[in-house]
Amino acid sequence: MKRIYLDYAATTPTRSEVVRAMLPYFTDAFGNPSGIYSYGQEAKGTIEEARVKVAELIGARDEEIVFMSGGAEADNFALTGVAYANESKGNHIITTSIEHHAVMETCKFLERRGFLVTYLPVDKYGLVTPSDVKRAITSKTILISVIHANNEIGTIEPIAEIGKVAKEAGVYFHTDAVQTVGHIPVNVNELRVDLLSMSAHKLYGPKGIGALYIRRGTKLLSFLHGGEQERGRRAGTENVPGIVGFGRAVELAKQEMSEEAERLTYLRDKLIKGLLERIDHICLNGHPQERLPNNVNISVDFVEGESMLLNLDLEDICASTGSACSSSSLEPSYVLLAMGISPEQAHGSLRLTLGKWTTEDEIERVLDILPGIVAKLRAMSPLFRGQR
Ligand SMILES: *Cc1c(COP(=O)(O)O)cnc(C)c1O
Repeated sequence: MKRIYLDYAATTPTRSEVVRAMLPYFTDAFGNPSGIYSYGQEAKGTIEEARVKVAELIGARDEEIVFMSGGAEADNFALTGVAYANESKGNHIITTSIEHHAVMETCKFLERRGFLVTYLPVDKYGLVTPSDVKRAITSKTILISVIHANNEIGTIEPIAEIGKVAKEAGVYFHTDAVQTVGHIPVNVNELRVDLLSMSAHKLYGPKGIGALYIRRGTKLLSFLHGGEQERGRRAGTENVPGIVGFGRAVELAKQEMSEEAERLTYLRDKLIKGLLERIDHICLNGHPQERLPNNVNISVDFVEGESMLLNLDLEDICASTGSACSSSSLEPSYVLLAMGISPEQAHGSLRLTLGKWTTEDEIERVLDILPGIVAKLRAMSPLFRGQR
C-alpha cells in the first residue's frame, strides 16, 4: 500500500518543477551574487526576479522583501528587530496564547530581557478578538504579533480588523503567515500589516529559505552583521538555489491557489464529516468555517493522540498530534489548552493536514481505518469502560 502523507502543515515535498529551477544554481550558475563579474551579477539578477515574485504574491514592493532562512528566523527577526529598534518608545508587546513556538519563545526571550508581553486569550474556536487587542494597547506598546492561521488548528484570525486597530494606535503589526501564504489570498495592504513571515517549505519549496516582509519605514535592528546582503538587513552570502526555488514555488502557488483551495476544502469537509459520523465522543478543534482549506484537527475522547499516530503509522499513514515541535513531548498542546479544551481532550488530539497529492481515495482509506483504530484503543482503555 502506498504511504498516505497527511502532515503537509509540518512540511511539504519540494515540487519537481522547483527542484529543476534550482539545479543550475548549484553548478553552472554558482557565482557569488556579490561578485562584480557578470557571473555574480547573473546570480544577483536571479535573486531579484524571485524577490519580485514573492512581493507580487502578497501585494508588497520588492524592496520590502528580505530573504532569510525560513519562518522561524523571520519571526525572530520581526520581534527582536522591532523590540530593540524601538526600545526608546516603549517596552510592551502584545501577542496571543496560540502563536507558533518561533513567536512564543521569542516573546519569552524578550520578557527575560525586560520587555513586557501580553498574551491575549482566544475563544473556543481559537479566535482572537480585535477589541481585546485594542484594550491591551498602552502608551508603551511598540508591537502586536498575531498569527494569520494557526498551524495546529487551522483557525484563520481576523488580521485585517486587528490591523485596523494597530494602525489607529500607531503600533507596528506583525503576522506569522507561514501557513497561509501560497494557500489562501494574502495581501499586506488589505491585512494592514507592517511585517509578515513566510517559509518556502510550507508551499512546496525547499527547506531553509523564507522571507520577512518589512513595510517601508519600519524600524528594525538587524542581528546578523558582516555583509551588505539584503540591503544590510541580513548579512551572509545568499542561498541562491533556495531563493530561486522559493520564487518558482510562489509562482506555481499563485497560478494554482484558488482551484487547489477549493479541492482541498471539499476533501477536508468530507474527512471531517466522515470522522464525526463514524466515531462517537469526538469533536472538531478550531473554527468550522474560518479555517485553512487543508486542516483537520479532532479530539478523540478516551484515546491518546500518540497511540493513534503509532497505529496510523503501522498503516503507513503520516499524521500529527499538534505541532511537529510538540509531538516529541508529552505536554498537551498549549494551543488547545488556550481554547479551553481539557488536558484529557488535548491529549487525544489528532491533526491531519492535506495537500497537493492528497486524493479522495486516501481520504476514504483514512475514514475506513481510523474508526477501527479508535475502537481498538478504547477497548484497552480503562477510562472508556464506564462509557459504554
Ligand atoms: C513551520 C512554521 C514556522 C517555522 O518555519 P520554518 O521555515 O520551518 O522555520 C513558523 N510559523 C508557522 C506558523 C509554521 O507553520
